[in-house]
Amino acid sequence: MIENKIATVVKNAGSHFMLSHLPKWELFPAVLRGKMRLKANDSTNPIAVGDLVRYEADNEINSENPATIVEVLDRKNHLIRKSTNLSKQSHVIAANIDMAYIIVSLYFPEIKLAFLDRILVTCGVYGIPVTIVLNKVDLYKEEAVEELENFRNIYTKAGYKVLETSTKTGEGIDELRQLCKAKVNLFSGESGVGKSSLIKALDSNLDPKVGKISTAHLQGRHTTSLYEMYHLTNMSVEDSAFIIDTPGIRGFGLHDLEKAEISTYFPEMLSVADDCKFSPCSHTHEPKCAVKQAVELGNVSAERYNSYLGMLEEDTKFRPAQ
Ligand code: GDP
Ligand code: ZN
Repeated sequence: MIENKIATVVKNAGSHFMLSHLPKWELFPAVLRGKMRLKANDSTNPIAVGDLVRYEADNEINSENPATIVEVLDRKNHLIRKSTNLSKQSHVIAANIDMAYIIVSLYFPEIKLAFLDRILVTCGVYGIPVTIVLNKVDLYKEEAVEELENFRNIYTKAGYKVLETSTKTGEGIDELRQLCKAKVNLFSGESGVGKSSLIKALDSNLDPKVGKISTAHLQGRHTTSLYEMYHLTNMSVEDSAFIIDTPGIRGFGLHDLEKAEISTYFPEMLSVADDCKFSPCSHTHEPKCAVKQAVELGNVSAERYNSYLGMLEEDTKFRPAQ
């Protein structure tokens, strides 16, 4: 008997995949049908972690007899990494993400707000909801109370949820676990912010730095995987939380974005821009600009406005002369 079913890609090791019928976590191997692999595509990987795929399989699926992926279903969103600024090739990091958690710390490594703002814009462009996780709050509460307050103000005013966590004191960990429930969550952050510690705090069975999915017997020799999904084991099946662990998202080439579009990915600017006298308005030199007014009133923070100006400038720099 041939089964023809739909499952989610939880691991991508080049041409070999692991699938599961989420929210159930029962992994089985799959390969791509040769014809599909040849399909013209400017992405280096036509299938990514998080993709829903249709597969065919015999009754018994094992590493000698994997399922065959025959179709990738439409994605609700996806996150891409461009190979270089000039090349058209891209790599899909993950698909169908319910929530992206951008993990940051104020120090060690020191945060660069302009960099965070680029990532927030990137997620906006790809239609991925974002929560900011400010980790290591145990440190700031002793040493950097003002900086903590400042960060919280800037980003909550901008319309983002800021969750404060500490893997040392446990602050915010239960809330993060609740937020992750019944969702596919993407965790991203620069090295050193405490991403692995957070994943471990959510579920002590997980250890991103050491243990990968413990299905070595199923995956044969194809063990390297750039991105994979984890499953929190301390929840009921219906509530299952899935985490895709990725290294830091880098703000992508802004030349993909129309200049006039950039400010629409700053929620606090978008919400007042209708009141600008001119349309389109770059919110730089135009008279009666509602965004500039909001900056003066403190409703749009100077830091965020500066990030915006930086992106505009960079955009001009990269754009070929017309
Ligand atoms: P990753 O590179 O983002 O995965 O970061 P790690 O989880 O390896 O953590 C980097 C360093 O930060 C380690 O020395 C951790 O012990 C430390 N760290 C992680 N979370 C916290 C926290 O909440 N508070 C403090 N003070 N240190 C933390
Ligand atoms: Zn304006």
